[in-house]
Amino acid sequence: MALVHHPGYHEHRQTIGHPERPERLAAIVERLRLEGLWKDVLTPEPVDPGLLEKVHTAAYIDSVRNFGEGYMDPDTYVRPETYRIALLAAGGTVLAARRAMETKRPVFALVRPPGHHAGSYHGGGFCYFNNAAVAAEALLEKVGRVAIVDIDLHHGNGTSDIFHSRRDVLYISTHQGGIYPGTGAVDDLGEGEGLGFNIPVPLPAGSGDATFGLFSERILHPVLERYRPGAMLVSFGGDAHYMDPLGGLSLTSPGYVSLTEELLGLARKLCGGAVCFTLEGGYHAGALAEVVAGAVAVFEGKRISCEHDRSADEQGVGSFAVEAAVRRLKKHWPV
Ligand SMILES: [Zn+2]
Repeated sequence: MALVHHPGYHEHRQTIGHPERPERLAAIVERLRLEGLWKDVLTPEPVDPGLLEKVHTAAYIDSVRNFGEGYMDPDTYVRPETYRIALLAAGGTVLAARRAMETKRPVFALVRPPGHHAGSYHGGGFCYFNNAAVAAEALLEKVGRVAIVDIDLHHGNGTSDIFHSRRDVLYISTHQGGIYPGTGAVDDLGEGEGLGFNIPVPLPAGSGDATFGLFSERILHPVLERYRPGAMLVSFGGDAHYMDPLGGLSLTSPGYVSLTEELLGLARKLCGGAVCFTLEGGYHAGALAEVVAGAVAVFEGKRISCEHDRSADEQGVGSFAVEAAVRRLKKHWPV
């Protein structure tokens, strides 16, 4: 088990009152320390420019570098230091992915800013560079296939777009349907060579532990077992938690722990344990810290005690949505 962290991640600031604030990461670090899980912490360098250019256009990278200060979109502010810190976030996820590959152990990149809304030529949704996509490119230097599983509340439109016509990166996303950024419809399975390798699973409000359990059984396991990735990345957002102020999904902290166990089990079975988790969203600091610490504990075969365990969605309110995705996938996968 290892963590990746850089002090610079705490220096990144959006506007006053913005949910993506430094306190999120501070709460995570504090909880990990409290649980005795703050150890084996690696400090990254900024991402290699050649690797960044595999994902983002040179023009877009230049535009972030030279942006100065102001709004990139109504939710995403840029300051003079943003470029430097965003390079460190991408570099941190690359370091975590490479370490996971070398050691065949899970590694968690505790980065800010997040990345999954950033596409090849645009940022937005609190994101500048797509950390997971850049890390996938780094892994592809060593393996032929990489699977990205995105359990953030929001659809990772950037990641989806970047790999939309490719099959060397499989992208599976659970997200609440009908909210920001409005993409990730159940029929959008990719295009060309990549048809079937972009798997959106939009879920209705209220979907939580039972719905995600069904998703794991009906989609995650059969698809990944057929795909047989050489390494896995997890875009880990804490905003699918029922405590989160931005969304309507209702995973509990134990629900996140179970999902982490499933993902780690699959990584061990399919790619020798090479799995890198990278932090995306999550805006209730206490719940976010709890689910990240819960996941890191799973890496060590431990359990932490969870405060936010109020069970909702015992019946699987999003089951019909999982089955709707399964029906689309039958043509491509043994679901
Ligand atoms: Zn999110």
